[in-house]
Amino acid sequence: MSKFIFGPVNSRRLGRSLGIDIVPKKTCNLNCVYCEVGPTTTKGIARDFYVSWEELKPEFYEVLQKKEFDVVTITGMGEPTLNKNLPDIVQGIKELIDKPLVLLTNALLLTVPEVRREVLEFSIISPSLDAVLQEDFERIDRPVIPVTPQTIIDGLAALRKEFSGKIWLEVLLAQGYNHSPEAIAALQEAVKKIQPDKVHLNSVGRPPLTAMKEKFAESVQPLSMEQLEAIQQKLGDCAEIIASKRQTITQKQKIDNLPENILQYLKRRPADQEEIAQGLNVRSQEIGDILTQLCQNNHIQKKIHEQKVVFFTDVG
Ligand code: SF4
Repeated sequence: MSKFIFGPVNSRRLGRSLGIDIVPKKTCNLNCVYCEVGPTTTKGIARDFYVSWEELKPEFYEVLQKKEFDVVTITGMGEPTLNKNLPDIVQGIKELIDKPLVLLTNALLLTVPEVRREVLEFSIISPSLDAVLQEDFERIDRPVIPVTPQTIIDGLAALRKEFSGKIWLEVLLAQGYNHSPEAIAALQEAVKKIQPDKVHLNSVGRPPLTAMKEKFAESVQPLSMEQLEAIQQKLGDCAEIIASKRQTITQKQKIDNLPENILQYLKRRPADQEEIAQGLNVRSQEIGDILTQLCQNNHIQKKIHEQKVVFFTDVG
């Protein structure tokens, strides 16, 4: 069983993305209301030595023999820059493959010059900036340490000067949390300062496991497409809406050990049958029986959320 590597999954933005988890669940310096991984349990800003390249390498070699993918995405069931082994992992991967390397980060640690130096070898960095107003930031991202959005914006502006790869700023918008006219005006100013290559507007697309566990899931709702389009227009040409753009399965992919792949997928995020099929690039009909079997054997659970049957591995 893969401990650190999952997928490839069909990413809305990246194509076939091989994901590598480099921090344990759920180690983060934020506790976002929309988080799909679940509530933050290991809180704090202190970086530590989590998974090392030596531990990852055997799994990565095995994956290279068996799987096809377009990009490698460093992520985590938490915030990946908290792992002090990040530079070794980046170097190890780059010595073995010549494919784009992507970092998904909440950007808090990009305020630190040393951490910014560690990420310069990535091809694409996708930092999050959900809110520029302090009050919104505290409501949606719920930092577990004292931090201001302005510090994060300064860190991203510094990264822009130092980093020659692409910066795709991701803004996740949730109904009633971070899309007031003042919030969007402040975001416009921040985008001017950061100068990202793209701004990706996202919304709550998957069941927010954190909010579900804390019993306030009903208050974390997506924006409508009309609301997103209005914000996109304000932000200009660099802004794209990535919410709810489901990809079409163009070819049937053979996946060895589909039940295990489904379990690995659900371990990282709750999903309905259609989304699992999209993520794993298999036809939806192929996984219906497997999901039933996994439920019967108590490996996963299911629940109705937003009028969909959603599958999970560990909702209490
Ligand atoms: S969404 Fe990302 S940044 Fe926010 S709590 Fe989850 S892992 Fe941390």
